[in-house]
Amino acid sequence: MSFPWGDERRFNSYSHYGKTHFGGRIQKLPVDAGFSCPNRESRTQGGCTYCANAAFSPAYLSDSEEIVSQLERGKHFFQRRYPSNNGYFAYFQAYTNTFAPLRVLREKYEAALTVPGVKGLIVSTRPDCLSDAVLDYLAELGHRTELCVEIGVESFHEETLEHIRRGHMVACVFDAFRKLHERGLHTCAHLIFGLPGETPAQWLEDVLLLNQLQPTFVKFHQLQIFKDTEMEAEYSRFPERFHPLSADEYVAFLCDYVERMSPGMVIERFSAEVPPRYLAVSPWHLLRHDALVKKVEDELARRGTWQGILV
Ligand code: SF4
Repeated sequence: MSFPWGDERRFNSYSHYGKTHFGGRIQKLPVDAGFSCPNRESRTQGGCTYCANAAFSPAYLSDSEEIVSQLERGKHFFQRRYPSNNGYFAYFQAYTNTFAPLRVLREKYEAALTVPGVKGLIVSTRPDCLSDAVLDYLAELGHRTELCVEIGVESFHEETLEHIRRGHMVACVFDAFRKLHERGLHTCAHLIFGLPGETPAQWLEDVLLLNQLQPTFVKFHQLQIFKDTEMEAEYSRFPERFHPLSADEYVAFLCDYVERMSPGMVIERFSAEVPPRYLAVSPWHLLRHDALVKKVEDELARRGTWQGILV
């Protein structure tokens, strides 16, 4: 049986996207371009309460390395693990990767594209850090190469965004996606399940807003609480504000969610994995990502459902 996206898997997977658009697996190579984040630099904000950005960057990176040498090292690292790669994306991942003058952005992005085997860029940023000049440059770049702009959406609830000090509102997210889509760019929405004050019933209702946003790709992460963050302190004082799920509960929730998602959106991830040394506590006791995906697929098969069946 083939589903609307032309594959036998019950959700529109990133691996299928790679096969149909690039003939096989494309490895993302994380780049730390040395950018900071406007939300961390602001005296009034001080950053998101869960921010521990070092946890998001692989150990082989460092700020001082040039973009090209970082990518060459990344290629060397992944060539041994996945020898059948069909190419690479330079993934500007750490902090806010549009938070610099346009001249600097241009220099760094263009440097990445000179690396043999790099077939495109993924630029991770905040919805409030996309000036018209940057958007126009990204549009021009998107005509020359494969480009995806990844936006931290995190929550569709104003109270949550305020509570975790994201420093932007939900309307700003919709505005950013509209501007990116008007320019014909691919987008990725990054969402966190489990932020304080939210419940699984609310996350399920939010899928309607995700369908309105209509990103090209989505990434789902369960909340992870990192060491030495304000959220670690909040969790220890007010654990009742958090709703972690067991592996089985999360699988059932993901199936409910996927059934309500538009079939056109490509799912990149269902959960996050970072080295345990960064975590303060692990309220979610999840399986490794591959095992979780297998359980989601098995559960969808048991239900006889698939992505978008309830849209
Ligand atoms: S936007 Fe990202 S880098 Fe900036 S404070 Fe929030 S989590 Fe940290």
